[in-house]
Amino acid sequence: MLPLTARTVHTLSTDSGQPEYLREMVMERIERDFYARDEEDQQAFLSQTWCNNCMEADLGMVEPQEYELNGVVYVEGKCAKCGEPIVTEIADDSTDGDWGDED
Ligand SMILES: [Zn+2]
Repeated sequence: MLPLTARTVHTLSTDSGQPEYLREMVMERIERDFYARDEEDQQAFLSQTWCNNCMEADLGMVEPQEYELNGVVYVEGKCAKCGEPIVTEIADDSTDGDWGDED
């Protein structure tokens, strides 16, 4: 009897069954420690928000999680008023002036 295993079938799965590390690589998402920031910075990011659900600014954010995605730093959390997810993009001062401000 010939072994049926001689025929190898490769199945490309498109469901969410891919390993965690692969998704991390594709997304290039790097976890950062929000609480490593200065107290002032934390308060600023937690208070200076925009909620798409409330359509209102500076409602506040709870449960912040900081991460970097494609070179941009974000703080993701929940609206303090309605609980919907909100994301704040952080403009890093250290990247300013890299495009020819100085002679
Ligand atoms: Zn809201």
